[in-house]
Amino acid sequence: MTPRILDGKATADAILAELKERAGRLAASGGRPPGLAAVLVGDNPASKVYVGSKVRACANLGFYSERVERPASATTREILEIVRGLNDNPAIDGILVQLPLPAQVDSMAVLSAVDPSKDVDGFHPINVGNLVLDRPGFVPCTPAGIMELLRRHDIALRGKRAVVVGRSAIVGKPMAMLLLREHATVTICHSRTKDLEAVCREADILVAAIGKPAFVTEDFIKPGAVVVDVGINRVSDPDEARRLFGGDERRIAQVLEKGSTLVGDVLPTAMWEKSSWYTPVPGGVGPLTIAMLMANTLKARMERQG
Ligand code: NDP
Repeated sequence: MTPRILDGKATADAILAELKERAGRLAASGGRPPGLAAVLVGDNPASKVYVGSKVRACANLGFYSERVERPASATTREILEIVRGLNDNPAIDGILVQLPLPAQVDSMAVLSAVDPSKDVDGFHPINVGNLVLDRPGFVPCTPAGIMELLRRHDIALRGKRAVVVGRSAIVGKPMAMLLLREHATVTICHSRTKDLEAVCREADILVAAIGKPAFVTEDFIKPGAVVVDVGINRVSDPDEARRLFGGDERRIAQVLEKGSTLVGDVLPTAMWEKSSWYTPVPGGVGPLTIAMLMANTLKARMERQG
C-alpha cells in the first residue's frame, strides 16, 4: 500500500488564505483589526521562536499584535497583572501565554486569569469544560488543527477506533474529546498503559503525542491506519538518522550539513510502510497550530463588539 501524506503545510496555507480574505473584508468595512497579545516570560529559545512565528503570522494577515516580555525572574503576581491589563485592553481579542512558564510562576493561576472570551489557546478551565460538554468555546490549537487536517482530507471518523497516546491538557485530552465529538470510539493511552502496542494496533486512527523520538514502531500500527504524529524531536546523530529514515539520504545530509533534523514520535519508516495516510514531520501537524491560533483570534474578534 502506498500511503498518502496529510499535508499540514498546504492545509495551513489554505486556512491562512481564507483568514486573510476575511480579515481583509473586515478592514474594508472599516472594522478594527483582530488583536493578539503574546506573553513571553524568560529566555527559552524555543518559546522565542514560537512567539516570533505567531507575531509574524499576525502581520501577514493584517492582524494587530503585541509582544509582552518579562525576565525569567518574573513572579506570578507580575504576570497576573499583565494578563489583567490585556483582559481590559479593547485592542486585544486574544491572549496567549507562551508555555512553559518559569517554575516559580503558577501556570494554572495565570491561565485561569485570562478572560475566557480572549482565551485563544483554549486552556482556561471554562473552555476546557465547554469542550467536554460540546458547547461553543475555544479549542486548543494543535488538536483543532489536526481535526481540520483530517476533515479537509475526507478522513472518516464516525464509528472508527481512535487511539490517542498522550494525555496532556494541551494535546492528548482535547484531541480525544474532539475525536469523540466526531463519533470515533476513543481510547487514551499514557505511560502506565499496559500492552501499549496491542492497544495501538486496534486503531484505525492513531495519534501520537508523547514527546519521545520515533517511539511508535511497526508493531504499534495496524496496516492501513491513519497515523497522526504530533511529536517534534531533534536528532543530531547521523547513524541514528540513518536508522530512523532508512534510505532517505536528504535527511541524513541535513544532519551532516545543519547538525540536526526533526523526527516525530513515530518511526518514519514504520509510518511509510504501514499507514494509509500519515502526517510528515516537519510539515504535518506543526504548521496547523499557528493557523488555528489565527483562526481563534479572528473568531474572538468577530464575537467581540467594537
Ligand atoms: P507532555 O510531555 O505534556 O505529555 C506527554 C504524554 O505522553 C504524557 O501523557 C505521557 O504519559 C505520555 N507518555 C510519555 N511516555 C510514554 C510512554 N513510554 N508510553 C506511553 N505514553 C507515554 O507532552 P505534550 O502533549 O505537550 O507534547 C507531546 C509531543 O507533541 C511533544 O513532542 C511536543 O513537542 C509535541 N507538540 C507538538 C505541537 C505541534 O504544534 N506540532 C504542539 C504541542 C506539542 P503520562 O501522562 O503518564 O506521563
